[in-house]
Amino acid sequence: MDLKTAIRTIPDYPKPGIMFRDVTTLFGDAAAFEQAARQMAAPWQSLSIDLVVGIEARGFILGGALALLLGAGFVPLRKPGKLPFETVSEDYELEYGMDTLHMHVDAVRARQRVLLVDDLIATGGTAMAGMHLLKRVGAEIVGAGFLVDLPDLGGAERLRAEKMQVHTLLSFEGH
Ligand code: AMP
Repeated sequence: MDLKTAIRTIPDYPKPGIMFRDVTTLFGDAAAFEQAARQMAAPWQSLSIDLVVGIEARGFILGGALALLLGAGFVPLRKPGKLPFETVSEDYELEYGMDTLHMHVDAVRARQRVLLVDDLIATGGTAMAGMHLLKRVGAEIVGAGFLVDLPDLGGAERLRAEKMQVHTLLSFEGH
């Protein structure tokens, strides 16, 4: 199945000029969801991943599936005010303004082998913040996996320039 056709594109959402790649249509299609999860898991299968770390919110859905397929645990990276225990956090820049990702301080131990997962990589700002958080707690970051790449925005290249292994399943031109 061509997974690209399972993703719905909504022009000018959330603002003019953005082509929003809506992966909820893929999640709602059992065959497409299973194929996406299996293909995203495949490159990491023999790499002894201890933990899949998913980014709020669509990264939780793919990350949970990947954790099961890889025999790994799952750790959420969340927006401020969501995690109940003590956290470590990392600020990052958005196109307009700033945002922050939090992780429970005891969720990842030093030298655990982790895979960072999100639905889509655009500029890479969100994933870089996740990578910095994981480095701060001493994790061994095996790589990062995304369902969708927007290569024109350069995020995957930014991560590769930091010596990260990056795997993406499909890509769309433009923003
Ligand atoms: P970035 O930090 O620029 O790499 O943006 C990645 C985050 O923003 C991901 O969590 C995506 O879910 C979301 N995102 C950015 N651009 C789009 C887009 N065109 N369509 C859907 N989601 C997007």
